[in-house]
Amino acid sequence: MSHNERDREMSPAERRRRMEARRRRQKAQEQRRRKKLMLLIGGGAAALVVIGIVIFAVKHFISGGPAAIASKNGSYVIVIDPGHGGEDMGMSNGEAKEKQVTLDICSKLKVMLESQGCQVVMLREDDTRISKEERVQKANEAQADLLVSVHCGYSDNSSISGAVSHYKKGSKESRYLAEMIESALVKESGALDGGSGEGSYSILSDTEMPAVLVEVGYISNMEEAGSLTDDSYQNDAAKGIAKGIIMSLEKNE
Ligand SMILES: [Zn+2]
Repeated sequence: MSHNERDREMSPAERRRRMEARRRRQKAQEQRRRKKLMLLIGGGAAALVVIGIVIFAVKHFISGGPAAIASKNGSYVIVIDPGHGGEDMGMSNGEAKEKQVTLDICSKLKVMLESQGCQVVMLREDDTRISKEERVQKANEAQADLLVSVHCGYSDNSSISGAVSHYKKGSKESRYLAEMIESALVKESGALDGGSGEGSYSILSDTEMPAVLVEVGYISNMEEAGSLTDDSYQNDAAKGIAKGIIMSLEKNE
């Protein structure tokens, strides 16, 4: 019996039932095809996401991160600002004078950064007083890629100690630089982590490059004042700041 003949012999109800069954089979087949396609697309999308994450990770951890600081002229120019100087002593505690601590640490920091191929502009190299305006002007004239100002912390509560990093408001590069400096400084010196936050100092707000003001330790704390005047502690602090700076740089060589 041919297919057509069988069809002709079927009752209308039987024919409807069979057609219904065929439609259901076709629908199921279509659904299976669609599912396979979705799995394929999903797999592709997942692979793309994985590739994206890998690229992000490489950029973040090898190239210094999403807010890494780029150099303007191929090699880095860094302004170092040793806080206070001359008649402006900063804070003091016994023998420990802020203006001397900042100059000592910055002098060590300069040598370390230069050994890494950076060009360093020091806003003062001896015990002279410079006004805030002069500092800002000298820093801007240097056309630098970044600036780090070094100070000591001070509190009426002499039990407070630790390092704190302040960054230029609204600058993601400055924030990144502060975070890198803070974590490396704490690691190298063993100082308490005072965290990082926005600062409104003129050396941050009035300068034209990513800028951080780091308080390496509380001079008002007896123990920390002792550390801050100690040569090997100053070396560790300088090393931490240098490492933090280097970590924040974009590496395109
Ligand atoms: Zn200061």
